[in-house]
This record gives sequence, C-alpha cells and structure tokens, in this order.
Amino acid sequence: MNSLKQKILTEGKVLSDSVIKVDGFLNHQVDPAFMQSMGEEFSSRFRGCGITKVLTLESSGIAPAVMTGLCLGVPVIFARKRKSLTLHEQLYSAEVYSYTKQESSEISVSKDYIEANDKVLIIDDILANGQAALGMVDIVNQVGATLEGIGIVIEKGFQEGGEVLRKRGIHVETLAAIASLADGQVTFQTKEVLSQ
Ligand code: 5GP
Repeated sequence: MNSLKQKILTEGKVLSDSVIKVDGFLNHQVDPAFMQSMGEEFSSRFRGCGITKVLTLESSGIAPAVMTGLCLGVPVIFARKRKSLTLHEQLYSAEVYSYTKQESSEISVSKDYIEANDKVLIIDDILANGQAALGMVDIVNQVGATLEGIGIVIEKGFQEGGEVLRKRGIHVETLAAIASLADGQVTFQTKEVLSQ
C-alpha cells in the first residue's frame, strides 16, 4: 500500500536496526481517515472469506481492526492484556512474549464473544517474531473457530514472524513489508511474500 509506505518513510523513526517507531500514525496518534483506508484495504483482501469476527490485541491493533470490522460489517473483539475486574466470565487465554517490552503476559478473550462457528480474521499493527499473532491463533484454536487469515499493517520481513505463520499455512496479508532498517534507512521488500 503506497500511501502507507510514504507515511512510514516520512513519519517513521528508525530507532535501531530492528525497531521502528510509528507513534505518529499507528501506536500513539491515529489518523482516522488513513486508518479507514487501511481497513478498506484489509477488507478487500479478505472479502469473500465469510469473516464473521475480527480479532485483535489491545491497544495498537484496535484502530486498524475496528476500521476493518466496519468495512466488513462484522464485530471486532480485542484480546485484553490484563484481566479486567469486570472480566468475570470464562476466558480463553494464551501466553505472549512482548517484543518491545521483553516480558511475557497473558492475553484473554471472554467466551461470550467468540464461538466455534466464527470465521476469524486476526488484525495487528506490527509483525516481528510473531508472538502476538501466535497467541491470538492459539485462542482461535482453543475456541475451535476457523482462522481465515491474518492482516498486518507493517511486517518486518527480516524477523521470523511472517515465515513462522506462513509455514503453518496461514493466509497472511501485510500492507507494508520492511526488508531492512539497517543504517537508519527503511527499505521495503520488493516482492510480496505469498502464503504457502
Ligand atoms: P511480535 O509479537 O510479532 O514479536 O511483535 C509484535 C508486537 O510488538 C506488535 O504488536 C508491536 O506492538 C510490537 N513491535 C514489534 N516490533 C516493533 C517495532 O519495530 N516498532 C513498534 N512500534 N512496535 C513493535
């Protein structure tokens, strides 16, 4: 998605050879119209899959997931990172190691909002080693629901997450795939990595 690549180039800040800061439009401030265009792109890529639910992880996945759910006309559920006092219900939970915080945490989804007959699209902001995505895949599997695919705003192609997910046969779509952040420069992948 060229508009996203432009935004990454103009507003992204390369913090190291492996980390990019995109607070200006994804992780802190949100540009709603731009977010909507990403939702439209995800929904066009997964239209026809019969998606009944979008699943994401709080907090940075929520904005792109909501826009995707709006375009697909389906509800959006976000996994909680901390058990809320109001989350008394039965939960599906999975362990996730956070790449940026370098600590493990449990993510949870109430059994009230996801069912075995759901066809689930997972949406997340950034794919690095795939831990967050795998945690959500784990929850979909516990539910017995069908995973239709994973939509990622920014994939860091030099880390293993994309390969791990595609090797499992999961349909992964990314809007911008970064090949390298070396020397403070963002280089995009020239070829789309296709799902196996
Ligand atoms: P993973 O679970 O794939 O290893 O890491 C994905 C999560 O870590 C994303 O949801 C994102 O919040 C965070 N993350 C990983 N790499 C980066 C990065 O380079 N920049 C930012 N801003 N977040 C990242």
